[in-house]
Amino acid sequence: LSKEEMKNYGYQIVDAIVEHHATQDQKLPVALGSREEMDSLFLEEAPEKGSEPSQVLNFVLEKVMTNSANMAHPRSFSFVPGPSNYVSVMADALATGYNIFSGGWAASPAAAELEIVTIQWLLKIFGFPKKKGGGIFTSGGSMANLTAVVTARRIKCGDDFSKAVIYLSDQAHSSNIKAIRVLGFKKEQIRVIPTDNELKFSVNKLKNCIAKDRLEGLYPFCLIATAGTTNTGTVDPLVELGKICKKEDIWFHIDGAYGGAAILSKKGKQAMKGIEKADSLTVDPHKWFFQPYEMGCLLVRNHKNLSHTFTEKPEYLRDIEGNTSEINFYDHGIQLTRRFRALKFYMSLKTFGLKEFRDAITYNIDLAEEVETMLRGSKSWEVVFPATLAVINFRYNPISKNYSEKELDKINQYISEKVVESRKALLVTTILNGQIVLRMCLINPRTTMKDVTDTFDLCKKYALDIEAKLAS
Ligand code: PLP
Repeated sequence: LSKEEMKNYGYQIVDAIVEHHATQDQKLPVALGSREEMDSLFLEEAPEKGSEPSQVLNFVLEKVMTNSANMAHPRSFSFVPGPSNYVSVMADALATGYNIFSGGWAASPAAAELEIVTIQWLLKIFGFPKKKGGGIFTSGGSMANLTAVVTARRIKCGDDFSKAVIYLSDQAHSSNIKAIRVLGFKKEQIRVIPTDNELKFSVNKLKNCIAKDRLEGLYPFCLIATAGTTNTGTVDPLVELGKICKKEDIWFHIDGAYGGAAILSKKGKQAMKGIEKADSLTVDPHKWFFQPYEMGCLLVRNHKNLSHTFTEKPEYLRDIEGNTSEINFYDHGIQLTRRFRALKFYMSLKTFGLKEFRDAITYNIDLAEEVETMLRGSKSWEVVFPATLAVINFRYNPISKNYSEKELDKINQYISEKVVESRKALLVTTILNGQIVLRMCLINPRTTMKDVTDTFDLCKKYALDIEAKLAS
Protein backbone atom coordinates (compact mmCIF):
# COMPACT_ATOMS: atom_id res chain seq x y z
CA LEU A 1 0.00 0.00 0.00
CA SER A 2 1.18 3.53 -0.69
CA LYS A 3 1.44 6.03 2.16
CA GLU A 4 -1.86 7.61 1.11
CA GLU A 5 -3.58 4.24 0.87
CA MET A 6 -2.25 3.26 4.30
CA LYS A 7 -3.62 6.49 5.73
CA ASN A 8 -7.05 6.03 4.21
CA TYR A 9 -7.18 2.44 5.34
CA GLY A 10 -6.10 3.36 8.87
CA TYR A 11 -8.52 6.29 9.11
CA GLN A 12 -11.40 4.04 8.11
CA ILE A 13 -10.48 1.66 10.90
CA VAL A 14 -10.08 4.41 13.49
CA ASP A 15 -13.41 5.88 12.38
CA ALA A 16 -15.06 2.49 12.81
CA ILE A 17 -13.57 1.99 16.27
CA VAL A 18 -14.55 5.48 17.40
CA GLU A 19 -18.06 5.03 16.02
CA HIS A 20 -18.30 1.73 17.85
CA HIS A 21 -17.16 3.27 21.14
CA ALA A 22 -19.55 6.18 20.74
CA THR A 23 -22.57 3.99 19.97
CA GLN A 24 -21.84 0.61 21.54
CA ASP A 25 -24.23 1.16 24.44
CA GLN A 26 -27.12 1.49 21.99
CA LYS A 27 -26.20 -1.76 20.22
CA LEU A 28 -27.20 -5.23 21.36
CA PRO A 29 -24.75 -7.03 23.63
CA VAL A 30 -25.39 -10.55 22.35
CA ALA A 31 -24.37 -12.09 19.03
CA LEU A 32 -26.16 -15.22 17.87
CA GLY A 33 -25.03 -17.27 14.93
CA SER A 34 -24.99 -20.95 14.12
CA ARG A 35 -22.02 -22.71 12.57
CA GLU A 36 -24.02 -23.04 9.33
CA GLU A 37 -24.74 -19.30 9.24
CA MET A 38 -21.09 -18.43 9.89
CA ASP A 39 -19.93 -20.99 7.31
CA SER A 40 -22.24 -19.47 4.76
CA LEU A 41 -20.73 -16.04 5.42
CA PHE A 42 -17.05 -16.87 5.62
CA LEU A 43 -16.12 -20.37 4.51
CA GLU A 44 -14.00 -20.31 1.37
CA GLU A 45 -10.63 -21.46 0.06
CA ALA A 46 -7.63 -19.21 0.76
CA PRO A 47 -7.77 -16.76 -2.15
CA GLU A 48 -4.93 -17.01 -4.64
CA LYS A 49 -5.55 -13.46 -5.77
CA GLY A 50 -6.04 -10.49 -3.45
CA SER A 51 -8.94 -8.01 -3.35
CA GLU A 52 -9.33 -4.28 -2.86
CA PRO A 53 -8.32 -3.47 0.76
CA SER A 54 -11.44 -1.38 1.40
CA GLN A 55 -13.64 -4.13 0.03
CA VAL A 56 -12.19 -6.65 2.53
CA LEU A 57 -12.39 -4.10 5.32
CA ASN A 58 -16.01 -3.23 4.63
CA PHE A 59 -16.93 -6.89 4.53
CA VAL A 60 -15.22 -7.42 7.89
CA LEU A 61 -16.90 -4.39 9.48
CA GLU A 62 -20.26 -5.53 8.20
CA LYS A 63 -20.10 -9.24 8.86
CA VAL A 64 -17.42 -9.99 11.45
CA MET A 65 -17.82 -7.18 13.94
CA THR A 66 -21.61 -7.39 13.90
CA ASN A 67 -21.49 -11.12 14.57
CA SER A 68 -19.45 -10.79 17.74
CA ALA A 69 -20.77 -10.24 21.27
CA ASN A 70 -20.08 -6.86 22.80
CA MET A 71 -18.51 -7.75 26.13
CA ALA A 72 -18.12 -4.06 26.93
CA HIS A 73 -21.88 -3.46 26.69
CA PRO A 74 -23.50 -2.18 29.90
CA ARG A 75 -25.99 -5.05 29.81
CA SER A 76 -23.31 -7.68 29.29
CA PHE A 77 -23.62 -9.22 32.76
CA SER A 78 -22.22 -12.69 32.27
CA PHE A 79 -18.95 -14.55 32.64
CA VAL A 80 -16.51 -11.77 33.42
CA PRO A 81 -17.35 -8.89 31.09
CA GLY A 82 -14.57 -6.91 29.39
CA PRO A 83 -15.36 -3.22 29.82
CA SER A 84 -12.09 -2.11 28.08
CA ASN A 85 -11.22 1.54 27.46
CA TYR A 86 -10.46 3.57 24.37
CA VAL A 87 -6.99 4.77 25.38
CA SER A 88 -5.80 1.21 25.87
CA VAL A 89 -7.36 0.18 22.58
CA MET A 90 -5.29 2.82 20.83
CA ALA A 91 -2.22 1.80 22.83
CA ASP A 92 -2.69 -1.75 21.55
CA ALA A 93 -2.93 -0.35 18.02
CA LEU A 94 0.38 1.43 18.57
CA ALA A 95 2.09 -1.64 20.03
CA THR A 96 0.89 -3.77 17.14
CA GLY A 97 1.46 -1.04 14.57
CA TYR A 98 5.12 -0.78 15.53
CA ASN A 99 5.21 -4.58 16.08
CA ILE A 100 7.30 -4.15 19.19
CA PHE A 101 8.97 -7.31 20.45
CA SER A 102 8.58 -7.33 24.20
CA GLY A 103 10.65 -10.42 24.94
CA GLY A 104 14.12 -9.07 25.58
CA TRP A 105 15.79 -5.89 26.68
CA ALA A 106 17.85 -5.60 23.51
CA ALA A 107 14.79 -5.61 21.26
CA SER A 108 13.11 -2.82 23.18
CA PRO A 109 14.66 -1.39 26.33
CA ALA A 110 11.62 0.89 26.64
CA ALA A 111 9.11 -1.96 26.44
CA ALA A 112 11.04 -3.93 29.07
CA GLU A 113 11.29 -0.85 31.27
CA LEU A 114 7.57 -0.08 30.98
CA GLU A 115 6.79 -3.67 31.99
CA ILE A 116 9.11 -3.27 34.98
CA VAL A 117 7.51 0.06 35.91
CA THR A 118 3.89 -1.09 35.57
CA ILE A 119 4.64 -4.33 37.42
CA GLN A 120 6.13 -2.14 40.18
CA TRP A 121 2.86 -0.20 40.30
CA LEU A 122 0.97 -3.45 40.73
CA LEU A 123 3.40 -4.75 43.35
CA LYS A 124 2.76 -1.62 45.38
CA ILE A 125 -1.02 -1.85 44.94
CA PHE A 126 -1.00 -5.43 46.25
CA GLY A 127 1.50 -4.84 49.05
CA PHE A 128 4.20 -7.08 47.58
CA PRO A 129 7.89 -6.33 48.26
CA LYS A 130 8.84 -3.74 45.65
CA LYS A 131 12.54 -4.52 45.42
CA LYS A 132 12.47 -8.28 45.69
CA GLY A 133 9.13 -8.76 44.01
CA GLY A 134 8.51 -9.07 40.30
CA GLY A 135 6.09 -10.37 37.75
CA ILE A 136 5.18 -10.73 34.14
CA PHE A 137 2.28 -9.86 31.85
CA THR A 138 0.61 -12.83 30.21
CA SER A 139 -2.19 -13.35 27.73
CA GLY A 140 -4.71 -13.72 30.57
CA GLY A 141 -5.49 -15.25 33.94
CA SER A 142 -5.25 -18.82 32.69
CA MET A 143 -1.67 -18.34 31.51
CA ALA A 144 -0.79 -16.49 34.71
CA ASN A 145 -2.11 -19.41 36.79
CA LEU A 146 -0.17 -21.87 34.65
CA THR A 147 2.98 -19.77 35.06
CA ALA A 148 2.41 -19.75 38.83
CA VAL A 149 2.03 -23.51 39.15
CA VAL A 150 5.11 -24.15 36.97
CA THR A 151 7.08 -21.79 39.21
CA ALA A 152 5.76 -23.31 42.44
CA ARG A 153 6.65 -26.78 41.22
CA ARG A 154 10.15 -25.79 40.09
CA ILE A 155 10.96 -23.99 43.34
CA LYS A 156 9.36 -26.46 45.74
CA CYS A 157 9.96 -29.79 43.99
CA GLY A 158 12.84 -29.37 41.56
CA ASP A 159 12.72 -32.18 39.00
CA ASP A 160 10.96 -34.82 41.08
CA PHE A 161 7.32 -34.10 41.72
CA SER A 162 6.17 -37.69 42.06
CA LYS A 163 5.07 -37.22 45.68
CA ALA A 164 3.93 -33.61 45.35
CA VAL A 165 0.35 -32.69 46.27
CA ILE A 166 -1.51 -29.50 45.34
CA TYR A 167 -4.60 -28.05 47.06
CA LEU A 168 -7.43 -25.91 45.72
CA SER A 169 -11.10 -25.45 46.54
CA ASP A 170 -14.15 -26.64 44.62
CA GLN A 171 -14.78 -22.98 43.71
CA ALA A 172 -11.32 -22.40 42.18
CA HIS A 173 -11.46 -21.36 38.52
CA SER A 174 -11.17 -24.17 35.98
CA SER A 175 -7.96 -22.69 34.59
CA ASN A 176 -6.15 -23.84 37.74
CA ILE A 177 -7.08 -27.48 37.37
CA LYS A 178 -6.29 -27.14 33.66
CA ALA A 179 -2.83 -25.82 34.56
CA ILE A 180 -2.27 -28.67 37.01
CA ARG A 181 -3.26 -31.23 34.37
CA VAL A 182 -1.14 -29.57 31.69
CA LEU A 183 1.81 -30.03 34.03
CA GLY A 184 1.25 -33.77 34.23
CA PHE A 185 0.07 -34.14 37.82
CA LYS A 186 -1.94 -37.30 38.37
CA LYS A 187 -5.46 -37.28 39.84
CA GLU A 188 -4.06 -38.69 43.09
CA GLN A 189 -1.89 -35.57 43.49
CA ILE A 190 -4.74 -33.08 43.32
CA ARG A 191 -6.88 -32.24 46.37
CA VAL A 192 -10.08 -30.37 45.62
CA ILE A 193 -11.19 -29.25 49.08
CA PRO A 194 -14.93 -28.65 49.55
CA THR A 195 -15.93 -25.10 50.44
CA ASP A 196 -17.88 -24.15 53.57
CA ASN A 197 -21.40 -22.64 53.79
CA GLU A 198 -20.10 -19.29 52.57
CA LEU A 199 -18.39 -21.00 49.60
CA LYS A 200 -14.97 -20.26 51.10
CA PHE A 201 -11.98 -22.58 51.24
CA SER A 202 -12.60 -24.73 54.31
CA VAL A 203 -9.57 -24.23 56.54
CA ASN A 204 -10.30 -27.21 58.80
CA LYS A 205 -10.78 -29.62 55.94
CA LEU A 206 -7.54 -28.33 54.44
CA LYS A 207 -5.58 -28.82 57.66
CA ASN A 208 -6.87 -32.39 57.99
CA CYS A 209 -6.02 -33.14 54.40
CA ILE A 210 -2.47 -31.81 54.69
CA ALA A 211 -1.89 -33.81 57.89
CA LYS A 212 -3.18 -36.99 56.26
CA ASP A 213 -1.03 -36.45 53.16
CA ARG A 214 2.09 -35.96 55.29
CA LEU A 215 1.33 -39.13 57.23
CA GLU A 216 1.18 -40.98 53.93
CA GLY A 217 4.61 -39.69 52.98
CA LEU A 218 3.33 -37.26 50.37
CA TYR A 219 4.69 -33.74 49.84
CA PRO A 220 2.20 -30.85 50.08
CA PHE A 221 3.85 -28.20 47.88
CA CYS A 222 1.28 -25.68 46.66
CA LEU A 223 -2.08 -24.21 47.63
CA ILE A 224 -4.25 -22.17 45.31
CA ALA A 225 -6.64 -19.76 47.01
CA THR A 226 -9.07 -17.48 45.19
CA ALA A 227 -9.54 -13.77 45.77
CA GLY A 228 -12.89 -13.31 44.08
CA THR A 229 -14.35 -16.57 42.81
CA THR A 230 -15.91 -16.47 39.37
CA ASN A 231 -19.23 -17.85 40.63
CA THR A 232 -19.87 -15.56 43.58
CA GLY A 233 -16.96 -13.12 44.03
CA THR A 234 -16.09 -14.85 47.30
CA VAL A 235 -12.65 -14.25 48.77
CA ASP A 236 -11.09 -17.23 50.54
CA PRO A 237 -9.79 -16.70 54.11
CA LEU A 238 -6.46 -15.42 52.86
CA VAL A 239 -4.94 -14.59 56.25
CA GLU A 240 -5.55 -18.07 57.67
CA LEU A 241 -4.51 -19.81 54.46
CA GLY A 242 -1.34 -17.72 54.34
CA LYS A 243 -0.49 -18.79 57.89
CA ILE A 244 -1.03 -22.46 57.08
CA CYS A 245 1.19 -22.18 54.00
CA LYS A 246 3.92 -20.48 56.02
CA LYS A 247 3.80 -23.06 58.79
CA GLU A 248 3.71 -25.97 56.37
CA ASP A 249 6.20 -24.45 53.95
CA ILE A 250 3.71 -24.62 51.08
CA TRP A 251 3.76 -22.28 48.07
CA PHE A 252 0.84 -19.87 48.47
CA HIS A 253 -0.70 -18.91 45.15
CA ILE A 254 -3.72 -16.62 45.00
CA ASP A 255 -5.89 -16.45 41.92
CA GLY A 256 -7.13 -12.86 41.96
CA ALA A 257 -7.87 -12.83 38.22
CA TYR A 258 -11.42 -11.74 38.79
CA GLY A 259 -11.43 -9.96 42.14
CA GLY A 260 -7.88 -8.72 42.67
CA ALA A 261 -8.50 -5.26 41.22
CA ALA A 262 -11.10 -4.63 43.93
CA ILE A 263 -8.20 -3.83 46.23
CA LEU A 264 -8.31 -0.32 44.75
CA SER A 265 -11.63 0.30 46.55
CA LYS A 266 -12.16 0.63 50.31
CA LYS A 267 -14.45 -2.39 50.60
CA GLY A 268 -12.25 -4.46 48.31
CA LYS A 269 -9.13 -3.60 50.29
CA GLN A 270 -10.77 -4.93 53.42
CA ALA A 271 -11.79 -8.12 51.62
CA MET A 272 -8.27 -8.66 50.24
CA LYS A 273 -6.52 -8.71 53.61
CA GLY A 274 -3.77 -11.28 53.49
CA ILE A 275 -3.26 -11.07 49.71
CA GLU A 276 0.15 -9.50 50.32
CA LYS A 277 1.40 -12.75 51.88
CA ALA A 278 1.10 -14.76 48.66
CA ASP A 279 4.17 -16.23 46.97
CA SER A 280 2.43 -15.57 43.68
CA LEU A 281 -0.71 -13.72 42.65
CA THR A 282 -2.68 -13.75 39.42
CA VAL A 283 -4.42 -10.55 38.42
CA ASP A 284 -6.13 -10.00 35.12
CA PRO A 285 -6.02 -6.46 33.78
CA HIS A 286 -8.39 -7.41 30.93
CA LYS A 287 -11.11 -7.85 33.54
CA TRP A 288 -11.55 -5.24 36.28
CA PHE A 289 -8.59 -3.07 35.32
CA PHE A 290 -10.59 -2.27 32.16
CA GLN A 291 -7.95 -3.30 29.62
CA PRO A 292 -8.82 -4.77 26.21
CA TYR A 293 -7.97 -8.46 25.63
CA GLU A 294 -5.42 -9.96 26.10
CA MET A 295 -3.75 -9.02 29.34
CA GLY A 296 -3.16 -11.10 32.42
CA CYS A 297 -0.44 -10.74 35.02
CA LEU A 298 1.45 -12.87 37.49
CA LEU A 299 3.08 -11.14 40.44
CA VAL A 300 5.66 -12.96 42.57
CA ARG A 301 7.07 -12.14 45.97
CA ASN A 302 10.58 -13.00 44.77
CA HIS A 303 11.38 -12.25 41.13
CA LYS A 304 14.29 -14.70 41.20
CA ASN A 305 11.79 -17.55 41.40
CA LEU A 306 10.61 -16.68 37.90
CA SER A 307 14.11 -16.50 36.44
CA HIS A 308 15.10 -19.76 38.20
CA THR A 309 12.14 -21.43 36.60
CA PHE A 310 12.22 -20.07 33.08
CA THR A 311 15.79 -19.10 32.17
CA GLU A 312 17.32 -20.98 29.25
CA LYS A 313 20.49 -19.91 27.51
CA PRO A 314 20.42 -20.99 23.87
CA GLU A 315 23.40 -19.98 21.72
CA TYR A 316 21.30 -17.86 19.38
CA LEU A 317 20.26 -15.54 22.23
CA ARG A 318 23.83 -15.09 23.58
CA ASP A 319 24.36 -11.72 22.02
CA ILE A 320 21.20 -10.15 23.42
CA GLU A 321 21.42 -11.38 26.99
CA GLY A 322 22.71 -8.03 28.26
CA ASN A 323 23.96 -7.48 31.77
CA THR A 324 22.37 -8.62 35.00
CA SER A 325 20.49 -5.40 35.71
CA GLU A 326 18.57 -5.79 32.46
CA ILE A 327 15.46 -7.95 32.51
CA ASN A 328 14.63 -10.19 29.58
CA PHE A 329 11.01 -11.12 30.10
CA TYR A 330 11.49 -14.25 27.97
CA ASP A 331 13.43 -15.53 31.02
CA HIS A 332 10.50 -14.81 33.35
CA GLY A 333 7.77 -16.78 31.64
CA ILE A 334 6.77 -19.17 28.91
CA GLN A 335 6.75 -16.92 25.83
CA LEU A 336 9.83 -15.80 23.93
CA THR A 337 8.12 -13.60 21.36
CA ARG A 338 5.70 -11.42 23.28
CA ARG A 339 3.48 -8.51 22.39
CA PHE A 340 3.94 -5.21 24.21
CA ARG A 341 1.14 -5.55 26.76
CA ALA A 342 2.55 -3.10 29.28
CA LEU A 343 1.92 -0.17 26.94
CA LYS A 344 -1.86 -0.15 27.30
CA PHE A 345 -1.68 -0.45 31.07
CA TYR A 346 0.90 2.34 31.19
CA MET A 347 -0.96 4.70 28.87
CA SER A 348 -4.38 4.21 30.47
CA LEU A 349 -3.08 4.66 34.01
CA LYS A 350 -1.10 7.75 33.01
CA THR A 351 -4.10 9.17 31.17
CA PHE A 352 -6.86 8.47 33.70
CA GLY A 353 -4.93 8.16 36.96
CA LEU A 354 -5.51 5.50 39.59
CA LYS A 355 -8.33 7.51 41.15
CA GLU A 356 -10.50 7.00 38.08
CA PHE A 357 -9.98 3.23 38.41
CA ARG A 358 -10.73 3.33 42.14
CA ASP A 359 -13.94 5.31 41.56
CA ALA A 360 -15.12 2.93 38.82
CA ILE A 361 -14.50 -0.17 40.97
CA THR A 362 -16.18 1.44 44.00
CA TYR A 363 -19.18 2.31 41.81
CA ASN A 364 -19.40 -1.31 40.58
CA ILE A 365 -19.34 -2.78 44.10
CA ASP A 366 -21.94 -0.27 45.34
CA LEU A 367 -24.20 -0.93 42.34
CA ALA A 368 -24.21 -4.68 43.02
CA GLU A 369 -25.17 -3.98 46.64
CA GLU A 370 -27.95 -1.69 45.46
CA VAL A 371 -29.22 -4.48 43.21
CA GLU A 372 -29.19 -6.84 46.19
CA THR A 373 -31.28 -4.38 48.24
CA MET A 374 -33.73 -4.06 45.37
CA LEU A 375 -34.07 -7.85 45.05
CA ARG A 376 -34.53 -8.30 48.79
CA GLY A 377 -37.42 -5.84 48.63
CA SER A 378 -39.16 -7.83 45.90
CA LYS A 379 -41.66 -10.65 46.35
CA SER A 380 -40.59 -12.35 43.12
CA TRP A 381 -36.85 -12.68 43.48
CA GLU A 382 -34.64 -14.59 45.87
CA VAL A 383 -31.07 -13.53 46.58
CA VAL A 384 -29.19 -16.83 46.49
CA PHE A 385 -25.78 -15.35 47.24
CA PRO A 386 -25.28 -11.75 48.42
CA ALA A 387 -23.54 -9.11 46.33
CA THR A 388 -19.82 -9.75 46.72
CA LEU A 389 -17.19 -7.80 44.79
CA ALA A 390 -19.79 -6.77 42.21
CA VAL A 391 -21.17 -10.29 41.60
CA ILE A 392 -24.67 -11.23 42.66
CA ASN A 393 -26.56 -14.53 42.32
CA PHE A 394 -30.34 -14.69 42.42
CA ARG A 395 -33.32 -16.55 41.07
CA TYR A 396 -36.95 -16.01 40.27
CA ASN A 397 -38.80 -17.57 43.20
CA PRO A 398 -42.07 -15.75 44.02
CA ILE A 399 -43.09 -16.22 47.62
CA SER A 400 -46.75 -16.58 46.64
CA LYS A 401 -45.94 -19.79 44.74
CA ASN A 402 -44.56 -22.96 46.11
CA TYR A 403 -42.42 -24.15 43.25
CA SER A 404 -40.32 -27.27 43.60
CA GLU A 405 -36.56 -27.05 43.09
CA LYS A 406 -37.00 -28.75 39.75
CA GLU A 407 -39.56 -26.18 38.62
CA LEU A 408 -37.36 -23.32 39.83
CA ASP A 409 -34.43 -24.69 37.85
CA LYS A 410 -36.62 -24.91 34.77
CA ILE A 411 -38.00 -21.40 35.20
CA ASN A 412 -34.63 -19.73 35.74
CA GLN A 413 -32.97 -21.62 32.90
CA TYR A 414 -35.83 -20.52 30.64
CA ILE A 415 -35.50 -16.88 31.74
CA SER A 416 -31.79 -16.88 30.91
CA GLU A 417 -32.28 -18.57 27.54
CA LYS A 418 -35.01 -16.15 26.54
CA VAL A 419 -33.09 -13.06 27.67
CA VAL A 420 -30.05 -14.16 25.67
CA GLU A 421 -32.25 -15.02 22.67
CA SER A 422 -33.70 -11.49 22.82
CA ARG A 423 -30.08 -10.23 22.54
CA LYS A 424 -31.00 -7.33 24.85
CA ALA A 425 -28.86 -8.56 27.75
CA LEU A 426 -26.26 -11.24 28.32
CA LEU A 427 -27.44 -12.99 31.47
CA VAL A 428 -26.59 -16.64 31.92
CA THR A 429 -26.88 -19.13 34.75
CA THR A 430 -24.51 -20.92 37.04
CA ILE A 431 -25.07 -23.66 39.60
CA LEU A 432 -24.76 -23.00 43.33
CA ASN A 433 -25.44 -25.74 45.85
CA GLY A 434 -27.14 -27.72 43.12
CA GLN A 435 -29.56 -24.90 42.19
CA ILE A 436 -29.66 -23.20 38.82
CA VAL A 437 -29.30 -19.48 39.51
CA LEU A 438 -28.88 -16.30 37.50
CA ARG A 439 -25.58 -14.50 37.93
CA MET A 440 -24.84 -10.84 37.33
CA CYS A 441 -21.27 -9.58 37.19
CA LEU A 442 -21.40 -5.79 37.36
CA ILE A 443 -17.87 -4.65 36.58
CA ASN A 444 -18.78 -2.25 33.80
CA PRO A 445 -18.63 1.38 34.99
CA ARG A 446 -21.14 2.37 32.29
CA THR A 447 -23.79 -0.02 33.63
CA THR A 448 -26.58 1.95 35.32
CA MET A 449 -29.38 0.93 37.64
CA LYS A 450 -31.69 1.43 34.64
CA ASP A 451 -29.76 -1.21 32.67
CA VAL A 452 -30.35 -3.53 35.59
CA THR A 453 -34.05 -2.76 36.12
CA ASP A 454 -34.75 -2.99 32.35
CA THR A 455 -33.14 -6.42 32.42
CA PHE A 456 -35.24 -7.46 35.42
CA ASP A 457 -38.39 -6.30 33.59
CA LEU A 458 -37.36 -8.49 30.68
CA CYS A 459 -36.71 -11.43 33.03
CA LYS A 460 -40.10 -10.92 34.65
CA LYS A 461 -41.82 -11.01 31.25
CA TYR A 462 -40.24 -14.38 30.45
CA ALA A 463 -40.91 -15.62 33.97
CA LEU A 464 -44.64 -14.95 33.52
CA ASP A 465 -44.44 -16.74 30.16
CA ILE A 466 -43.07 -19.94 31.61
CA GLU A 467 -45.30 -19.75 34.66
CA ALA A 468 -48.30 -19.68 32.34
CA LYS A 469 -46.87 -22.66 30.44
CA LEU A 470 -46.29 -24.59 33.65
CA ALA A 471 -49.82 -23.85 34.84
CA SER A 472 -51.47 -25.01 31.62
N1 PLP B 1 -9.30 -17.12 37.43
C1 PLP B 1 -10.51 -16.56 37.71
C2 PLP B 1 -10.92 -16.40 39.14
C3 PLP B 1 -11.33 -16.14 36.66
O1 PLP B 1 -12.54 -15.60 36.94
C4 PLP B 1 -10.90 -16.33 35.32
C5 PLP B 1 -11.76 -15.92 34.20
O2 PLP B 1 -12.90 -15.60 34.35
C6 PLP B 1 -9.64 -16.91 35.10
C7 PLP B 1 -8.87 -17.29 36.18
C8 PLP B 1 -9.14 -17.13 33.70
O3 PLP B 1 -8.74 -15.93 33.15
P1 PLP B 1 -8.61 -15.74 31.56
O4 PLP B 1 -10.00 -15.93 31.03
O5 PLP B 1 -8.10 -14.35 31.45
O6 PLP B 1 -7.67 -16.76 31.06
